[in-house]
Amino acid sequence: MRQLLLLILLFFAGQWLVKALRRVGNAADAPRNGPFDTSARPDANPGNTGGAQAQSQSRQLAEPMVRCATCGVHTPQSESILAAGQRFCCAEHAERYAARPTGRTAR
Ligand SMILES: [Zn+2]
Repeated sequence: MRQLLLLILLFFAGQWLVKALRRVGNAADAPRNGPFDTSARPDANPGNTGGAQAQSQSRQLAEPMVRCATCGVHTPQSESILAAGQRFCCAEHAERYAARPTGRTAR
């Protein structure tokens, strides 16, 4: 039982250590304004937190929406299924599109 308590204590101590190390790293990086343009313009950007937020937002909006060739539903490109050069919202629609004969003369 004492060993378990020791393990828990070690766990919390490790987490605190990681947090402390991160805090020190952030404080050391803040006045340098990141690794990008320190040599070019050292005093060009007074606040770099807004830039980071804008970058994350544009990263969220970067994913394009694609249209399912069977039902026309728009799905994110990462969730869509690519088959026969077309995008589909689900595997069932991809199979339906592949099984369907091209052209109206078949029916
Ligand atoms: Zn579909």
